[in-house]
Amino acid sequence: MTTRRDAAAADQQDPLAVHREQFRIDPGVVYLDGNSLGALPVRVEGRVAEVIAEQWGRDLIRSWNKHGWADLPRTVGDKIGSIIGAEPDSVIAADSTTVNLYKAVHAALSMTPRPRILTDAGNFPTDIYAMSGVAEQLGRELVIVEPEEVLSSVDDSVGVLALTQVDYRTGRKHDLANVTKAAQESGALMVWDLAHSAGAFPVDVAAHGVDLAVGCGYKYLNGGPGAPGFIYVAPRHQARFANPIRGWWGHTEPFAFRLDFTPADGIDRARVGTPHVLSMLVLDAALDVFADIDLRLVEAKSRRLSSLFIDLLDSRVELASPAHASQRGSQVSVRHPDAYAVVQALIGRGVIGDFRMPDIARFGFAPLYVRYVDAWDAADQLRAVLDAEEWAAPEHRRRAQVT
Ligand SMILES: *Cc1c(COP(=O)(O)O)cnc(C)c1O
Repeated sequence: MTTRRDAAAADQQDPLAVHREQFRIDPGVVYLDGNSLGALPVRVEGRVAEVIAEQWGRDLIRSWNKHGWADLPRTVGDKIGSIIGAEPDSVIAADSTTVNLYKAVHAALSMTPRPRILTDAGNFPTDIYAMSGVAEQLGRELVIVEPEEVLSSVDDSVGVLALTQVDYRTGRKHDLANVTKAAQESGALMVWDLAHSAGAFPVDVAAHGVDLAVGCGYKYLNGGPGAPGFIYVAPRHQARFANPIRGWWGHTEPFAFRLDFTPADGIDRARVGTPHVLSMLVLDAALDVFADIDLRLVEAKSRRLSSLFIDLLDSRVELASPAHASQRGSQVSVRHPDAYAVVQALIGRGVIGDFRMPDIARFGFAPLYVRYVDAWDAADQLRAVLDAEEWAAPEHRRRAQVT
């Protein structure tokens, strides 16, 4: 059994340990929810102050040109592109993940005559809602199968296979390379949601020939609450990418103010309206943390952190994540009949995870700032909560609006 001293020794050896200083984390807190809201990078604070005072406050509307506000979706998109292994000029940061998925799946369907979108029941509900809307609007059909049945369900009726790589509840991870290959061999287009992937491990969309992808800016990318999401369109598809939401920033000449819509060349056609400049600048500063980071090291640490936590897990909770590190994303989920109250009791002890319906306590391991001692302490505190039956306390059982 690993002791706390072993965990501390692992931190000493950790090549990523230096990066923790780049984040604002209260010393009394073990933060295991970076998969839902990444921690605050210290550099963001100065950047926000500067942007507010100098760009908005002093330079006012001149900043659109002077400070590159107009190009932010592309410049920020390229930074995300290098994290997910995309070609230059193939990612923009914009809108929310839900809206980007809507655009991606709608555009993908317009590239194929086949009648079906296939997805799985492990997908995040907002993705399913967005796709059910697309299907209804285009007179196509959304088919939802179990995650294990995806490959056997891809037939020549499937025009678009749209999946989230990492299951938000269990952390189960699809094999992106194999699934993409199988979809394309059967003639379908592959759309990936990388919400729980980007920034947690290497993805390499270009190397695997992914058609389209979307993802989230506020999880492992640490872009702050409500940060813009992103959309990737493979260069080979950009000329026929038809954005279902036609806005002036997706027009070839936004400031020509013509009444007819001509889409921009390239990835700019995935844009819609005015970029959310303040959020975008926060995300931009947050992404600089990744400038000199090797994502293979991030993945290796994620696997070691989560394996350490699993090894120390109390037998009164049941592991809901795959036992093999290669089959899960950067999180560990456990089941407990009173999971909500268990999570609240842990938060009371400074260990922040979250709850997902119906019985899942979820712990995210963001390797840039979570230490091995944090994984050790979290398992220790979980044991203490169960020993003291703290989950039975009424104050831990009252459900808040956001869980
Ligand atoms: C977090 C997450 C989202 C969030 O979508 P928003 O539009 O940002 O609210 C969507 N899909 C998946 C798979 C997610 O994990």
